[in-house]
Amino acid sequence: NPGGNVKVVVRVRGFLQRGTIFCLGSLGAQCLIAMNPHNQSTKLLIPPTTDPANSRAQTRKVIEEKTFTFDNSFWSHNSSDEHYAHQEDIYNALGEEFLDHNFEGYHTCIFAYGQTGSGKSYTMMGTPEQPGLIPRTCEDLFERIESNTSANISYSVRVSYFEVYNEHVRDLFQPRTDPPHYLKIRESPTEGPYVKDLTEMQVKNYGEILRYMRMGDNSRTTASTKMNDTSSRSHAVFTIILKQIHHDYDADETTERMARIRLVDLAGSERAKATEATGQRLREGSNINKSLTTLGRVIAALADPRHSRLHNPNRKNKDIVPYRDSILTWLLKDSLGGNSKTAMIACIAPADYDETLSTLRYADQAKNIRTKAIVNQDHVS
Ligand code: ADP
Ligand code: MG
Repeated sequence: NPGGNVKVVVRVRGFLQRGTIFCLGSLGAQCLIAMNPHNQSTKLLIPPTTDPANSRAQTRKVIEEKTFTFDNSFWSHNSSDEHYAHQEDIYNALGEEFLDHNFEGYHTCIFAYGQTGSGKSYTMMGTPEQPGLIPRTCEDLFERIESNTSANISYSVRVSYFEVYNEHVRDLFQPRTDPPHYLKIRESPTEGPYVKDLTEMQVKNYGEILRYMRMGDNSRTTASTKMNDTSSRSHAVFTIILKQIHHDYDADETTERMARIRLVDLAGSERAKATEATGQRLREGSNINKSLTTLGRVIAALADPRHSRLHNPNRKNKDIVPYRDSILTWLLKDSLGGNSKTAMIACIAPADYDETLSTLRYADQAKNIRTKAIVNQDHVS
């Protein structure tokens, strides 16, 4: 089965605790999400109207309950619920399977989508107390490597971390400079698009990779305090390259399996609409959203049932998917529509009808995308 659909899951977070006594986020707010753990459906409920004479619901053209079904619907709203999905549950349901694929020699990509504050960074990176998918993947990766006792397999692990901000690529393993140092994108016939001169660190154990992860993450967060809301505007791409070198002594043959693990924390999805709505904006403002709006167009093109026919190599019209229209989609080309097993985590807030509906529709569309993952294996000698 060479083709596979993009795996799509959704996760709803709880109300935010602001301050210690008052919980501003939840004052008067009602959770608009219901999930059915038996069929993995997510239902978006109609927001209650407090003032019927002047309610948004009455001015809205169509408002109704919507139900979507995903590969998983993760309930992380209230920890008292028996179906509450902890960080560990997300890893067990998704991260582990994807790491299995990597050891089989497949490239993978998991990306988190959703509005600012919906839980993307919490899900991907997490906190020191509640580690997310990235640190858990790193930990499991080295546990598997270290538990392998076979003398004829050796491993190499390299890691890189960059962000796309304002259509520029910045290496998160390099110190910030003023003016900032941006990297260029190149395309190789075999490897596809890549970031030229991106720092790749060889890592030997979990402690090392964790140190690099934190270092890169700090480079991202520092920026957010200086340039107000960088982290909601930047896309962060954490990449692990796993090589397994297998030597068959009987046949005197060496084969190498290479897997690329991409873990992506996207910019806040509300950014895409902000540009569309206002049209002319600050130059910076419009650039920031280009990667996100293009991602939407790429997903729409790939999810279109005509795409599989259009993508037939015998047809001339191969460039129908606008990957090259933005830095992010160009770099993620393979992950979105090519050689990769890919998953999308749609993160949603509990009480925002419009943003949540938009995210759920986006996620629903992504379910139709098929990628063409192959085992990346070479005979070395
Ligand atoms: P985003 O990256 O999408 O902007 P964050 O991951 O920063 O959003 O989440 C916003 C806030 O909500 C953070 O304080 C985060 O710790 C908290 N949060 C998000 N999801 C959860 C969750 N499932 N459980 C507990 N806290 C969460
Ligand atoms: Mg974030």
